[in-house]
Amino acid sequence: MKTLETKSMVLLRHHLKALRLRTIGTECEKVAQQAAADNVDHLTYLLQLTELELLEREKRSADRRLKAVRFPTLKTLDTFDFTARPSVNKMLVTELARCEFIDKRENVLLVGNPGTGKSHLATALAAAACGRGYKVRFFRATELVTTLIEARDERSFLRLKTQLAQLDLLVLDELGYVPATKVGAELLFDVISTAYERTAMIITTKLPFESWTEVLGSERLTGATLDRPTHRCHIIETRGESYRLHDAKTRTRRTRNPDTVAKTSGAQTD
Ligand code: ADP
Ligand code: MG
Repeated sequence: MKTLETKSMVLLRHHLKALRLRTIGTECEKVAQQAAADNVDHLTYLLQLTELELLEREKRSADRRLKAVRFPTLKTLDTFDFTARPSVNKMLVTELARCEFIDKRENVLLVGNPGTGKSHLATALAAAACGRGYKVRFFRATELVTTLIEARDERSFLRLKTQLAQLDLLVLDELGYVPATKVGAELLFDVISTAYERTAMIITTKLPFESWTEVLGSERLTGATLDRPTHRCHIIETRGESYRLHDAKTRTRRTRNPDTVAKTSGAQTD
């Protein structure tokens, strides 16, 4: 097939740019040549181009969504070793990764000691949600409280609240690690109560429920805060020792036993 004359091509590129059809702009000549070689009709050619444009757009928006979540580090479920954490129900986690809990505005509470994979699972579930087109935001609880306190008297506070209200899934990591001030606790409670019914939440904490009063500073607030995320809530307990410790021990055992090293040298460690 003849390529379009330069003038028409320049015009076409201009129109496609004005219509924001970037992928069609970059692909139209190549696809046209292939279409001519395959004897493809005009409508099919148009179909192929629009499909390419849609695919590329979906990929770009998935990248944007993933970036907007602001994960500290991106983790996925396929790197989570379920055999090392038998208290975690793999079926439940796999089910949660299908994200129906988000449509149902349910919550996930991950409870366990440091290093037991709570943030890993929270991140992996949030990334799965992102891949399915949900609006997600990940916060360390203390970071959210600081941001809220700092923004309290400014217009950015309203902006942040509006952003939070538009989310499908809010992740609060490490809730209760640092005792919040009374103001901090009130602001956090406000976020949780606003999210309730409207936004699904994933909360991770090392705290057993009994210690929450201490952290949030009042029985009333604790009752109200706890009542909200634990209502319609999937609880996952990551019992046992820290994964790093477990991992280090496994590695030591492997070094002591060269046979195992040879067999598992391809295996990935953290
Ligand atoms: P927590 O949030 O409970 O303190 P993390 O999720 O940060 O723990 O886990 C600590 C480190 O160990 C991370 O690098 C994480 O990816 C890894 N890790 C924890 N549990 C597992 C697991 N079962 N399989 C693979 N990696 C794990
Ligand atoms: Mg963590």
